[in-house]
Amino acid sequence: MHKVYLKAGKEESLKRFHPWIFSGAIAHFDNEPEEGEVIDVYTSKKEFIAKGHYQIGSIAIRVLSFNQEEIIDDDFWKRKLSTAYEMRRSIGIAENPINNTYRLVHGEGDSLPGLVIDIYAHTAVMQAHSAGMHLDRMRIANALNEVLGNSIKNIYYKSETTLPFKADLYPENGFLMGGGTNDIAMEYGLKFHIDWLKGQKTGFFVDQRENRSLLERYAKDRSVLNMFCYTGGFSVYAMRGNAKLVHSVDSSAKAIDLTNKNIELNFANDKRHAAFAEDAFKYLDRMGDQYDLIILDPPAFAKHRDALRNALQGYRKLNVKAFEKIKPGGILFTFSCSQAVSRENFRTAVFTAAAMSGRNVRILHQLTQPADHPVSIYHPEGEYLKGLVLYVE
Ligand code: SAH
Repeated sequence: MHKVYLKAGKEESLKRFHPWIFSGAIAHFDNEPEEGEVIDVYTSKKEFIAKGHYQIGSIAIRVLSFNQEEIIDDDFWKRKLSTAYEMRRSIGIAENPINNTYRLVHGEGDSLPGLVIDIYAHTAVMQAHSAGMHLDRMRIANALNEVLGNSIKNIYYKSETTLPFKADLYPENGFLMGGGTNDIAMEYGLKFHIDWLKGQKTGFFVDQRENRSLLERYAKDRSVLNMFCYTGGFSVYAMRGNAKLVHSVDSSAKAIDLTNKNIELNFANDKRHAAFAEDAFKYLDRMGDQYDLIILDPPAFAKHRDALRNALQGYRKLNVKAFEKIKPGGILFTFSCSQAVSRENFRTAVFTAAAMSGRNVRILHQLTQPADHPVSIYHPEGEYLKGLVLYVE
């Protein structure tokens, strides 16, 4: 196995179990490793400190283990996936009769940096964000098969857009096991079509489950606007929560089709729902003041740190429009899923928007990602979803 030696002092973050080693921390290699290889990491004093997947780029090594004895073999993957599964089972997310949609592996949060696995009924969708996870995909798929047994019939690999484009990997999306097309999954008793072949991310935004469930409690007799609806997740919960009416808006016509399909699946011929393919800003400008529950769940405005200022401006502009139009006594669910935007940043943007609208606003809830998207205490960067539930006088 190749070895890498760090510059003096650069082992400090690893002593605190942070799972990334930046390229600037590296002093030298014994031999230049291949991208995706597992390599051993030594301090400048030649003491073993970690092992992980190597890759060319700013994050050069993603740590898989801090234990020199641990070998990254078939057993390793099985152990890791079993631990991830057991955690979700023990907290009632997996093996739940009314829920078969959950994240089994959440990268660093499950000590597997670079790997995401979402479960949709009998299908696992696997996404690699690092060269190492890509190279190990078959071993991971085999381990998945062993750990989940008969409950899984298909494993779909979807990494064409998530792998570093400079690496010579040429990933192809496709089934590593099975090939089923039965794409209906259940989230807290509601049914959803999951389009893992063409949909965004792994096909569905599993991370809003608990927040959608909270929304259901507030929906009764309200007029709901679900802005950036994508698959209509929030809309379906609002319908079950006995909303008076639910309007879903997304700029993508495909998203609107998906939303309509999911409403049909759960509430066929229910006239309370309508969906519109339109730009969010335009819709918010032209709409009246009929809504007393508005959801704003936009795509990540800041994918990188340098885009932060524009992103905050985007959140401010979006939220100000909602504050100006929402009915007195209305409730606003507002989110940011940009990793580069901190909780404080987001709250400041929403605070500024509230002040600009002149409305009196109270924070009812501060939301985050659900328990199947855990944050490693050693990797606070893993917290990305931020939400506020606001009561607008
Ligand atoms: N709330 C969704 C996830 C939203 S993902 C859920 O719970 O699953 C973000 C969505 O915003 C995407 O579907 C994308 O098509 C849509 N979108 C992006 N830019 C937009 C814009 N300017 N106006 C309206 N929708 C937009």
